[in-house]
Amino acid sequence: MPAVFGPPEVVVASGKGGVGKSTVSAAIAIEAARAGHRVVAADADAEAPNLHIVLGVKEWESEEPFHEGRIAYIERGKCTECGICAQVCPFKAVEVINGHHLINEMICEGCLTCALACPEKAIRYRVNVLAGRLRVGVTRYGFRLVSGEIVPGRPNSGKLVTEVKNRAKAILGSEGVLIIDAAAGIGCQVVSSLTGSHIAVLVAEPTPASLHDLARVRALTKHFGMAAAVVINKADLSAEWAAKIREYAREEGMPILGEVPYDDAVPRAVAEGVPVTEAYPGSPAAKAIREVAKAVAEEILPNWLSWYEKYRVKEPHPYTPIIIRPEL
Ligand code: SF4
Ligand code: SF4
Repeated sequence: MPAVFGPPEVVVASGKGGVGKSTVSAAIAIEAARAGHRVVAADADAEAPNLHIVLGVKEWESEEPFHEGRIAYIERGKCTECGICAQVCPFKAVEVINGHHLINEMICEGCLTCALACPEKAIRYRVNVLAGRLRVGVTRYGFRLVSGEIVPGRPNSGKLVTEVKNRAKAILGSEGVLIIDAAAGIGCQVVSSLTGSHIAVLVAEPTPASLHDLARVRALTKHFGMAAAVVINKADLSAEWAAKIREYAREEGMPILGEVPYDDAVPRAVAEGVPVTEAYPGSPAAKAIREVAKAVAEEILPNWLSWYEKYRVKEPHPYTPIIIRPEL
């Protein structure tokens, strides 16, 4: 169960990508700021960060490198090209180019199996490799956004997301609300986003795939003992599947915060890099999303502890990850 002292942390998540999560995150952050809350937003999708575009961050006020992990390399003079390292590497990171064994830095996970196996002790490693960047900027709505960006091909995006959250919490201090836009799916970035957070806003579409993925991300929120609510986006696409999502939410004890109709204004606003609630405030989707954001800003946040207590999972569920072992 998350600690209930300190400011609330609201995570907007969805098991599936492309369902409007960043649009909802941006609207909640803007509406919370307008309602007088001290807001810090965190873009927790380090592999494809884009909340800074939606929220109009023109330039970063601070940027710093994020170093993490190890990369192995072969000392040419010691290597006899025996090939053992290529045989033992679980990630197939050792390649042979022009007869020389080389480690592909984009693939190497730094496990050092090869270093242990090399009979010539020819494998060394670099530590604290540049793995990404951590940026802080001021949005056009006046609150700060913290955003991480992982170097393409580097692992540890979940750890970078933890750094993003820690920096956002440090900026927020003891008062206000942290709004976190999680990555799609249920991977390590999402786990880092949910860890220690209180409220999950789960965005779903009325499709079989989205309901399936909603259940997967719901399992994670149950593991972390969070309180969760649902937003159905493009709710009029399928009456049948919208009803199934409502039914699932009811069974899971998750209130529906709102239903957003399909609306061409949303992709137009995305193309313009502006939240639909700001670009096309009179559109049906913008009105519905603003209602969702107002529900969070004006009904949940002012008395968030009682809302959290009402909807939180009382017995956190065990979560058993599926472990896929690399082929040896
Ligand atoms: S195991 Fe060692 S000696 Fe053999 S190819 Fe790899 S680096 Fe070279
Ligand atoms: S065995 Fe591990 S450290 Fe060595 S190349 Fe493969 S992934 Fe990198």
